[in-house]
Amino acid sequence: MRVLKFGGTSVGTAQRMKEVADLITDGQRKVVVLSAMSGTTNSLVEIANYLYKKNHDGANEVINQLEIKYKQEIKDLYKTEDFKLKGLELVKSHFEFIKSFTIDMFTVFEEKAILAQGELLSTAMFHYYLEENGYDSVLLPALDYMRIDKNNEPDSNYIKEKLNEILSENSEKNVFITQGYICRNAFGEIDNLQRGGSDYSASLIGAAANADEIQIWTDIDGMHNNDPRYVENTKSISDLSYDEAAELAYFGAKILHPTSVLPAKLANIPVRLLNTMEPKASGTIISSKQNKERMAAVAAKDGITAIKIKSGRMLLAYGFLRKVFEIFESYKTPIDMITTSEVGVSVTIDDDRHLSEIVDDLKKYGTVDVDVDKVIVCVVGDLIAENKGYASTIFDALKGIPIRMISYGGSNYNLSLLINADDKKEALNLLSNKLFN
Ligand code: ASP
Ligand code: MG
Repeated sequence: MRVLKFGGTSVGTAQRMKEVADLITDGQRKVVVLSAMSGTTNSLVEIANYLYKKNHDGANEVINQLEIKYKQEIKDLYKTEDFKLKGLELVKSHFEFIKSFTIDMFTVFEEKAILAQGELLSTAMFHYYLEENGYDSVLLPALDYMRIDKNNEPDSNYIKEKLNEILSENSEKNVFITQGYICRNAFGEIDNLQRGGSDYSASLIGAAANADEIQIWTDIDGMHNNDPRYVENTKSISDLSYDEAAELAYFGAKILHPTSVLPAKLANIPVRLLNTMEPKASGTIISSKQNKERMAAVAAKDGITAIKIKSGRMLLAYGFLRKVFEIFESYKTPIDMITTSEVGVSVTIDDDRHLSEIVDDLKKYGTVDVDVDKVIVCVVGDLIAENKGYASTIFDALKGIPIRMISYGGSNYNLSLLINADDKKEALNLLSNKLFN
């Protein structure tokens, strides 16, 4: 059994959906996870925002535009009058549901129900398409088996039990179509796995069903060894370890959602990144195999804020870091990078919504400096301490670039540097030339 996930662009038009159908109708048993058609979830968020503000006209305008788009896709997707009609009925019922919220009270529960409509639509449309073309498939409602607990973490035992129950009830079937992103929460309400969460769904499903492989289909040929927007001649990486992939996914390699590596890693199921535009290309395979003595990739993350706290009280004291971390925790702000000296600590954050409160609180413990608009550049590869020389190669490449923070040894796979945004492009190119060319 395999799990194949197709993102919003891969199912973004009727034509693209037909191409996906060609990729999955090879007779092998599989679960096909679909995102909403591209742009849909953004529109649903916009609708919800209008409804929160009780601006029903604003909401209706976006709803109507979206409905027109879907009606057109339905006409393009099906050949027979019968299925065009079924498709239009489907679209109508989902949009009536969305419109039903333009009269009532609007809270986060209604918002989540609205956000779920994109995946419900794309999967039902796709299921009809397969049916019209004579392929047998089962529509597997994610709301029946995908669940998060009170801490918003996936309820793995429940997912495993429910999913396998449904799969074994349909043991004679081969193709299961299901929604990415959506789930129920601990109270049974409709919820979701956060934006971009369809990759996470695929990984959780793969782990629960003990799949042979999880495939993430996008429109790029796997993860690249550098950012193609800033560096020429980047190459797709043939294989990565789970740990390397997790580091890269966090650092802007938008192709894979960072959370989705863990379930696959825990279940030791390989994840393959494939390209719908070039289905024969081998893409990137992510598994437990760690390539020795290899620098796999360079990546960067923008919009980083660095905060330095200096204090004589830190000298030879314990408990200082805890106090500092508690402040970030109280504002639910994750820390990314951290470096310390005997009299100070520097941390970086990418979520600066509570920056001023955090800085205010930190002033209780020391002098605080803030640097905004920084970039973390990271080198991912086999950076275990025994591999001598990589750090000096990296620093040699960057000898002309001012470096604000360095983090090495946090894992065996990452060396991170904090630099100015203006130096990012040059740094990525210098590293690329030194490490890969
Ligand atoms: N449709 C959802 C989003 O746009 C989930 C996903 O595509 O992964 O965030
Ligand atoms: Mg995505």
